[in-house]
Amino acid sequence: MTYIVGLTGGIGSGKSTIADLFAELGVPIIDADIVARQVVAKGSPLLSDIVQHFGEKVLLENGELNRAYLRERIFQNEAEKSWLNNLLHPAIREEMLRQLYSQTSDYVIWVVPLLIENNLTTLCQRILVVDIEPQTQILRASRRDQNKVAMIENIMKSQVDRQTRLSFANDIIDNNGDLAETLPLLKQKVLELHHLYTELARK
Ligand code: ATP
Repeated sequence: MTYIVGLTGGIGSGKSTIADLFAELGVPIIDADIVARQVVAKGSPLLSDIVQHFGEKVLLENGELNRAYLRERIFQNEAEKSWLNNLLHPAIREEMLRQLYSQTSDYVIWVVPLLIENNLTTLCQRILVVDIEPQTQILRASRRDQNKVAMIENIMKSQVDRQTRLSFANDIIDNNGDLAETLPLLKQKVLELHHLYTELARK
């Protein structure tokens, strides 16, 4: 039985940054966003289903999924959106569980942006929240993707609020400080948690 540590946080909070620090310690990372891309990879059965439904235009010239086109097709079209979600969600869930339970390490870090929103907390033995101030979240997320602030605020509104997220946490990593200064501290905190999770998993 794999000991699963769910790692979550709002958009731009630093989930990938923190997951990378666990990966440096040799901990396997299963990232929900990556699995979501794997299930529709070039040549996958799911991608064929999508092509059958939306037509060849949904493919890029190199045979990969044209995400921008697909997004446009489901934008404000509830029927198409549900069709796609009904196809993808069970497949993503199944593939995530397969990857989680095939690990042989003491524990695994499972990075899920919508862990709480999608009621996935019950699959975790422990929940680690990356916490930052909403203002910093907006700043970092908009700088990274050159996204409009309004768009990031909308995504934040669709996610649980900071207090709700924190109420689910067994452990919290404060990522408010600037990486240039706080990286050694973050590494120390991750190392402490690594020892804790290893111990808990072996119990
Ligand atoms: P998302 O859910 O939006 O994919 P995330 O939670 O995985 O984001 P990251 O991608 O790790 O967050 O971080 C968001 C951006 O902020 C990245 O550009 C990252 O380099 C930067 N960042 C993360 N932590 C810090 C920090 N402590 N100081 C400065 N920049 C940071």
